[in-house]
Amino acid sequence: MPYCNLSIIKEKRYFMKYDVIIIGAGASGIMAAITAARQNKSVLLIDKENKLGKKIYATGNGKCNFTNAYMKKECFFGNEELSNNIFGVFSEKNVIDFFNKIGVLSYEKNGYYYPNSNQASSIVTALELELMRCGVTICLNSSVLEIKAIKDVRPCDSISEYIIKGYTIENVADVSSAGLEKNKKISKDNKHNKNSNSKRNSNKSNNNAVTQKRMFLYECKSLIFATGLLASPKLGSDGSSFELIQKLGHTFTSILPVLCGFYCKGNAFKKMAGVRVKGQISILDNGKVLNKNTGEIQITDYGISGIPVFQVSHSISELLLSKKTVMGEIDFLTDISAENLKQCLKNNALILPDKKEFKYILNGILPDKMWNELFNYAKMDSSFTKKGIIKRNMSLEKTINDMINKLVDSIKHYQVIIEKSRGYEFAQACSGGINSNEIDANTLESTLYNNLFFAGELLDVDGICGGYNLQWAWTSGYIAGLNAAK
Ligand SMILES: Cc1cc2nc3c(=O)[nH]c(=O)nc-3n(C[C@H](O)[C@H](O)[C@H](O)COP(=O)(O)OP(=O)(O)OC[C@H]3O[C@@H](n4cnc5c(N)ncnc54)[C@H](O)[C@@H]3O)c2cc1C
Repeated sequence: MPYCNLSIIKEKRYFMKYDVIIIGAGASGIMAAITAARQNKSVLLIDKENKLGKKIYATGNGKCNFTNAYMKKECFFGNEELSNNIFGVFSEKNVIDFFNKIGVLSYEKNGYYYPNSNQASSIVTALELELMRCGVTICLNSSVLEIKAIKDVRPCDSISEYIIKGYTIENVADVSSAGLEKNKKISKDNKHNKNSNSKRNSNKSNNNAVTQKRMFLYECKSLIFATGLLASPKLGSDGSSFELIQKLGHTFTSILPVLCGFYCKGNAFKKMAGVRVKGQISILDNGKVLNKNTGEIQITDYGISGIPVFQVSHSISELLLSKKTVMGEIDFLTDISAENLKQCLKNNALILPDKKEFKYILNGILPDKMWNELFNYAKMDSSFTKKGIIKRNMSLEKTINDMINKLVDSIKHYQVIIEKSRGYEFAQACSGGINSNEIDANTLESTLYNNLFFAGELLDVDGICGGYNLQWAWTSGYIAGLNAAK
């Protein structure tokens, strides 16, 4: 196997040939590149961003939950044939082993796998080092403008070679290198001078940085698209490859943002913003529970978020698409049954001083930001006191019992109207992708062209939260890379 330095291309040549070219240097593209290069193929990895694996850095809150021990088909959505067929070839165990062999030790917490360093950057660095060892050429800051499939290289009109035209944005260093030296000197001269101009000078040198477009033309036998869909476009996956893919004749199913928060109706959320409770969210369709999940629900100024909301986001997004009003029901205290909660609240009511507002019976049970809203929701006055009840000649016991029943109902059956998703910008994944009837489910090769492959989120498979989306990226990248190298 060739061993060469990682070359962040400053392409002087106009035309180069590779065995395999991969567009998209995210998780799936990198895995595809390593896999193809390990088959002794010359591989070029192209990305329009200035960094490899830009999205990986953001995964798992910067810790990268890269797979999960519990890998079942119910953890995935989209085309079942695709996900069922290939996980056996490159499973979660293979992924853990792959990272182990390239130097990343991992640990498991409730089935979720993370690198031992707790740093997503260590996953990217390990991948980058492996790309280097395998001799993969990396071409960053590069956009593809056109792809041509060559029809006449083989008999039977079979398409098996591709020409890729595009450009790389390069920094032209002349001004900056001279400028930097100059700045270094200036800041040295002004070391003891608080009114130094060095900051102004360094801005000046940045302003002087010049970029230029350098056109390229590459040829390859196999081409892999690993450009993601639309989730978190700031991290690279912005749909800019869709036109190229569609021009080749491929079509997409409808794409929806998933693993995201949702805007909810009403002002209550602003008042409760910042609250995090262990609860359960159920999504109702005509009163029936369509999907539910338990965990730390986050109340935000716009509505609801948190992992349990992400886990039911698929159901919500689909209902929203069908223009239905989406009703969610939150149980803010899953660990306590309604009966036990009533007992707790009765006890708190019993010991509550006569002049103290009844909302204090929630003290120690739920965050104080929620108290007024839970009373409001139950259509009760949270400022009511025992003294007030007695003054009105009402039965203290009956009034308290009624109040507690209503309060428990609002805590355990708090209904929200979900209006819209927070969209692609805040989504961790997307559902949908390239129509699966245009993909060979065993090889991930296009059924329209020979030697054209797809990997990662671009395909119509997405997973729940917990390492499943990266597992899909690693597995599909591996399969595409392996078959592209054949
Ligand atoms: C904040 C956040 C946290 C997440 N946390 C987790 C987690 O902990 N565990 C988990 O399993 N999943 C997580 N995910 C999801 C996971 O990161 C993705 O499913 C996975 O990275 C998708 O990999 P991919 O290779 O298919 O696409 P991407 O990672 O999106 O990579 C696509 C690449 O293609 C490039 N590209 C796009 N268009 C072009 C073009 N026209 N020309 C050239 N290059 C192009 C992009 O720049 C990008 O580098 C998270 C996602 C986000 C946003």
